[in-house]
Amino acid sequence: MVIASVPEQKVKIGPTQLLINNEWVDSVSGKRFETINPATGEVICHVAEADAADVDRAVEAARKAFSSGDWKNMSATGRGELLYKLADLIEQNIEELARLETLDNGKPLNDSLKADLPLVIACYRYYAGWADKIQGKTIPINGPYFCYTRHEPVGVVGQIIPWNFPLLMQAWKLAPALATGNTVILKTAEQTPLSALRIGELIVEAGFPPGVVNILSGYGPTAGGAIARHMDIDKVAFTGSTEVGHLIMEAAAKSNLKRVTLELGGKSPNIVFADADMDQAIEGAHFGLFFNQGQCCCAGSRVFVEEKCYDEFVAKSVERAKRRTVGNPFDTQTEQGPQVDKEQFHKVMSYIESGQREGAKMLCGGSQAGSQGYFIEPTIFADVQDEMKIAQEEIFGPVMSIIKFKDIDEVIKRANTTIYGLAAAVWTKDITKAHAIAHSLRAGTVWVNCFDVFDAAAPFGGFKQSGIGRELGEYGLQQYTEVKTVTVKL
Ligand code: NAP
Ligand code: MG
Repeated sequence: MVIASVPEQKVKIGPTQLLINNEWVDSVSGKRFETINPATGEVICHVAEADAADVDRAVEAARKAFSSGDWKNMSATGRGELLYKLADLIEQNIEELARLETLDNGKPLNDSLKADLPLVIACYRYYAGWADKIQGKTIPINGPYFCYTRHEPVGVVGQIIPWNFPLLMQAWKLAPALATGNTVILKTAEQTPLSALRIGELIVEAGFPPGVVNILSGYGPTAGGAIARHMDIDKVAFTGSTEVGHLIMEAAAKSNLKRVTLELGGKSPNIVFADADMDQAIEGAHFGLFFNQGQCCCAGSRVFVEEKCYDEFVAKSVERAKRRTVGNPFDTQTEQGPQVDKEQFHKVMSYIESGQREGAKMLCGGSQAGSQGYFIEPTIFADVQDEMKIAQEEIFGPVMSIIKFKDIDEVIKRANTTIYGLAAAVWTKDITKAHAIAHSLRAGTVWVNCFDVFDAAAPFGGFKQSGIGRELGEYGLQQYTEVKTVTVKL
């Protein structure tokens, strides 16, 4: 691990109130909470704290915007134009937004600027293009009838997002919901409220009518819970832990049976065969686990390596991890910043302790990096067994577990032995083997000789307890529309 460091930089902080009905307002309670810079542990600023009463206000505005007025009467092309405008405004402010994201979340500026923001802009543009191409069918039913379907918006949508990709998760949620004509109440994660609020300013500037997008900072059990159980919210879309996913579904079931889509945790297998390009596989596995400080729902956190190349793979992976640049996220040389907050820091450290206790071999890392903020050294465990906690539970940090396997049938079975099914990857030059693996794994995404390849056009989501529904692509539209059948006697 190499420590990178440059002096603190100035970052422009945008709005800190709630966005309701295109107005910036304090919360009903008047409460505010602090958001922290995870690189230093210092308070950046305080933001308005939404609770149930603020959710009610936002729902009222969203319902009104959905039922009458400019948004309801807007053409599909008009909705697309607003989304294009928003994408342009984000592009014009890309540096400022990337810096704000890095300040609040801790991710390296290099990543915010070259990965997160370009994907955000592409996502808004992709769905802008869909807005006027969402079509029903004409259906030849029996009898003298004309039957057709309409794909109508679901209505008022609640969206709850996590802190690992604040701007990108906002885009994945808002873009398809708005392209299809819904109105939205979006709750950001308590750790990272700032960048979403700045986008709120750009949403107003782009010309979205009042009430179409409402953005609330606040806590999960209060503001998030109020969204999940609200009687006048038609759908809730959630990204976060599997544990909270259960709660969201339960709240929807106990309230108004609102539609639920969930994008939850993972324990993704990354399978390396001895016939792979070894250097590519090692770099791909490194990226697939350590990217974003290991805080990815699809992180390749179970690296299965064929016996024949196990020792070589482990040795070179350790060498690569030791070269990883950890430090000030504003330094463009930095590959890894801090974990998002103190809680996540301690959670990851406790998994490292459990790996050692259960007898896995820790070959590098294992400690806090530096003395301030929430940095953790890139950590690698070898000789990890399937039943160890670090091989079963989502760590969400820079901790790689390398597991040995003998043959293809065995690795498929073991890779599938998990409650999760979000993503997977396989490294091999054998095309038959690659497809056999891709078809046998119970996961929503399988990458072959690559990892973390995301595109607004390619659907993403989980099998099993990794979620319900798909985001992105044409499939993402279905989650935000209701199908209506119209039958006309001729
Ligand atoms: P989390 O609690 O699931 O947070 C995700 C979002 O849900 C946040 O906006 C959160 O609000 C909200 N929330 C929490 N409890 C809620 C409730 N009872 N009702 C409605 N909304 C609620 O995740 P976390 O605590 O930040 O992280 C815990 C673990 O979740 C991580 O270690 C990781 O394993 C996993 N995780 C997965 C993803 C992913 O992309 N799939 C993302 C983040 C975390 P608050 O801001 O108040 O928490
Ligand atoms: Mg923060």
